[in-house]
Amino acid sequence: MRVSLRLTDDQHQALKAQLHPGDGREAAAWLLCGRRCDSERSILCGRQVFPIAHEASVRTTHSITWRMDSLSPVLDAAQALAAPAIVHIHSHPKGAAAFSTVDDECDRVLHVDLAKIYEDGEPSASLIMLPDGGLIGRGYRKGKFAPLDGAFVIGHLIRRFPTADGNATAANEDDRNQVFGGGTTSLLSKLRVAVVGCSGTGSVIAELLARLGVGELILIDPDVVEDKNLNRIINSMQAHATMATPKVDALSVSITRNLDRNAPRVIPLRGTLAEAWRFTATADAVFGCTDSSEARMHLDRLCHQYVMPYIDVGVDLRADKLGGVSYAGMAVHYLRPGGDSLLARHGYRMETVEAESLRRTDPELYTERVRIGYIEGVDEDRPAVISINTQAASMAVNELLARLHGYRSGRPADHSSRYVNLIEEFQTSEPSGQPCPVMSPLCGLGDTNPPLGLVGLS
Ligand SMILES: [Zn+2]
Repeated sequence: MRVSLRLTDDQHQALKAQLHPGDGREAAAWLLCGRRCDSERSILCGRQVFPIAHEASVRTTHSITWRMDSLSPVLDAAQALAAPAIVHIHSHPKGAAAFSTVDDECDRVLHVDLAKIYEDGEPSASLIMLPDGGLIGRGYRKGKFAPLDGAFVIGHLIRRFPTADGNATAANEDDRNQVFGGGTTSLLSKLRVAVVGCSGTGSVIAELLARLGVGELILIDPDVVEDKNLNRIINSMQAHATMATPKVDALSVSITRNLDRNAPRVIPLRGTLAEAWRFTATADAVFGCTDSSEARMHLDRLCHQYVMPYIDVGVDLRADKLGGVSYAGMAVHYLRPGGDSLLARHGYRMETVEAESLRRTDPELYTERVRIGYIEGVDEDRPAVISINTQAASMAVNELLARLHGYRSGRPADHSSRYVNLIEEFQTSEPSGQPCPVMSPLCGLGDTNPPLGLVGLS
């Protein structure tokens, strides 16, 4: 089983302040996590940092001893989680980028004890933090250590620490570290990315990600290819429409056939996010390419609850009733766990979410009540929008690359929403807001009962 760990930037900063206080001696902390487990991937989602008091530890430049009673507040807080996990972290102030033999002995005893607390057979983990904030980690399950499948720190930038050393780039794994070159390909090859909604915009995003070299691609969409989609779904064919092939299967087969040995592992899931949320939560990043407010609300919750970066993309076209358009534009939002939310940015409204939940509970009534065309204000079922969708899809994928590589000038926090107005021909961006009072308290909960804190999800 692959185990990975995700922290928010705030948690990472709190750990750095605790573990590297500036006196050159080792220090330690606990990290309480929520979990998402599936059969092949286990995700530890950072919930809360618990410093182990310096005065209650024996600290030297090369060792630290702490007392097990420091675990009491962690165990108390863990009672509020449906699937808790406990991670131990200590520092190597001299920068030694590996677990020592003393660490091995300590960890073996510790993880055997931790496994007895919950007896769920799920993995726990240990981390070392280096003086520059770099992380080295390993998972422990059923008597065995294994390197983490990435430790992620997700803030306005997304950092992935490989676990053989502490550097947050692909540079030390091989010599190819060029942004928009081997560095991009190498980093993306280690990521699992989910695309929710595989129609006009999502199909282009899937194509871009596949050709950029993403390692695993989860595709989610409930619908089949129809004749009317052929003018805007990349890689869709007449045969798919004739056979009513699910969109996710059409894309999966095309990507795999086109790229062959260079293709990512594609995981097609036919269904809504309400059905496919479990698998989506195992992705390292998620793209929302849906016009469903309910799906956007689910994505908002996934982002916070499972500590994952979420990029939402939307195209907005409004008819002027004279055959022209009064507005044409697009928006790309970058959302980070523990920060603001798409709800707070008015990316969807809860009234619409409630109306849409009828889609699942009473599909006939839903169809009767809701008829929203692609171009607001007209009934146009073959909108000629592939060029607009493609521009929006490129913006969204560039957003991921910019957050991974940090190559843009200025503060990333100042450009969390980006808008393009195709009528007035300008681009603008807005800063991220305060932490969302509805969503940010969910940060790091992992699995909950009921799923995503909502009734009615399968
Ligand atoms: Zn150590």
